Amino acid sequence: MFEKVLIANRGEIALRVHRACQEMGISTVAIHSTADENAMHVRLADESVCIGPPSAADSYLNIPAIISACEITGADAVHPGYGFLSENARFADILDEHGITFIGPSADHIRLMGDKIAAKTTVKRLGIPVVPGSDGAVTNDIEAKAIAEEIGYPVLVKAAAGGGGRGMKVARNAKELPHALSNARTEAKAAFGDDALYMEKYLGQPRHIEVQVIADSHGNVAHMGERDCSLQRRHQKVLEEAPSPALNAEARAKIGDIVARAIEGLGYLGVGTVEFLYENGEFYFIEMNTRLQVEHPVTEMITGIDLVREQIRIAAGLEMSFRQEDVTFTGHAIECRINAENARTFVPSPGTIRDFHTPGGLGVRVDSGAYGGYRIPPYYDSLIGKLIVHGRNRNECLMRLRRALNEFVVDGVDTTIPLFKDLINEPDFMNGDYHIHWLEDFLAKL
Ligand code: ADP
Repeated sequence: MFEKVLIANRGEIALRVHRACQEMGISTVAIHSTADENAMHVRLADESVCIGPPSAADSYLNIPAIISACEITGADAVHPGYGFLSENARFADILDEHGITFIGPSADHIRLMGDKIAAKTTVKRLGIPVVPGSDGAVTNDIEAKAIAEEIGYPVLVKAAAGGGGRGMKVARNAKELPHALSNARTEAKAAFGDDALYMEKYLGQPRHIEVQVIADSHGNVAHMGERDCSLQRRHQKVLEEAPSPALNAEARAKIGDIVARAIEGLGYLGVGTVEFLYENGEFYFIEMNTRLQVEHPVTEMITGIDLVREQIRIAAGLEMSFRQEDVTFTGHAIECRINAENARTFVPSPGTIRDFHTPGGLGVRVDSGAYGGYRIPPYYDSLIGKLIVHGRNRNECLMRLRRALNEFVVDGVDTTIPLFKDLINEPDFMNGDYHIHWLEDFLAKL
């Protein structure tokens, strides 16, 4: 087992990784920018190294500085968390060249899934159903028009290197198509330095349902059920739950099995998430994330399995601690992303948190690095914590969520807590009756 793990991230996920390491008897090294000197993960880690100025490009994305921090502290492995360098194949390669273990899949699998066109072709070959669309890249407007007519409007133009909902444009008819293509191309080039595009049928009212998978180097593969992440704003997840209110045990086992078999065929290692849109009883693959996800706790709550612990075991060459038949789903879990943002306008609200009181009690988990007196720096994303609630069934979970939200105090900055308090009174949400556009429709009516 590793003796020392460097956590190449910040915020709640850095703390999450630290906690798993501590429970495994592994020392931790926190890295931080000058803006994060007083962060909780820095305070709790066994050692910390300042790796640069506030801008992420100079700190959390600064590969030479992170390698130096590993060398100085003698870390034998790096956990990348999510975001930042977590899906950067070059980072995985460089760590490997330095004899440091990247806690994640192989650089080749990261590279493959990072190219969404290649990812789609690969998983289709492995038996996973995909969204109908262009087989490969669309290179010009004439070709795009022919494909769009074949799959039928509306179509969605997407960036091969896409992420975070960027580089995605809808065309409702042939007239809108050239504009969608040129907009997506410009946005993709600016955001990812890669303007390769592909096209998909734009599904009207699907749910976003993703399957958690895990595989070790001893030939063990399992799926850990699904998460429903249909509550989104601008293609970004806001609230996630497991199990999905839309699936029954049979549908769950069926898609889980298809995904686990595909992952096995891929020779994948570690944890990963295969994302689908789900409409009229059919699954359509959209992408695979080769990392731990923000919403992983809902899976942990209903399975009792610590995903970070498993990641570390697998990276160290050990077997995962369970088999498919050991995975059972108990009760229901919901996660709310608490962002330092205005709950109506979603304008970021950095600043000093005066008072911070988290809810507690049975079935309540808060993953957060925030505390009273903490100053939220303006340089990074606005997620300041996650409230995760577990109940024996969905109704108990909802009642507990309402109670926990009422207990949560964050004074001094705006947060998204009021949005969740509104949601918990909405019949559609209470009934689990919502799709990927539901939240934006709801917000438009407020
Ligand atoms: P990103 O990597 O940028 O997050 P994804 O491919 O994972 O992009 O899609 C993000 C979200 O965009 C999905 O959860 C869904 O809301 C929407 N989306 C993606 N593809 C389609 C599609 N073909 N039809 C309708 N909505 C889609």
